[in-house]
Amino acid sequence: MSDCLFCKIINKEIKSNIVLENDSFLVFEDIHPKADIHLLIVPKIHIESVDHAEKKDVNVLGDMFLKAKEVAEKLNLKGKYRLQVNVGRDGGQEIDHIHMHFLADKKKEVAME
Ligand code: AMP
Repeated sequence: MSDCLFCKIINKEIKSNIVLENDSFLVFEDIHPKADIHLLIVPKIHIESVDHAEKKDVNVLGDMFLKAKEVAEKLNLKGKYRLQVNVGRDGGQEIDHIHMHFLADKKKEVAME
């Protein structure tokens, strides 16, 4: 999608701070973090939202969770993070390209220890 911000980030037309990348996903830092660690897990295939997902997208939807697990392992955050998927304007979705927020708070980690 030529006018999609996340497609432009995936195509490196817009810069981002990339944490992980493979053929199917890009994981990068959210520009307006709402937690100490706030990453976006974005499939490279353009699906507008969960409301637009179809049966054929089942692998990419599942892999999004496994990518979150991989991020948690890489950042040593297993068991210390939360995931969020916003759907539609009224559900808080600003960017119409399906993505998962990965959030973790360092303070909570310290408090929990
Ligand atoms: P959502 O509201 O679920 O659609 O999430 C979109 C997220 O993208 C928000 O948390 C924004 O802060 C983030 N965002 C917007 N533009 C950029 C950008 N250029 N680079 C990184 N994150 C961005």
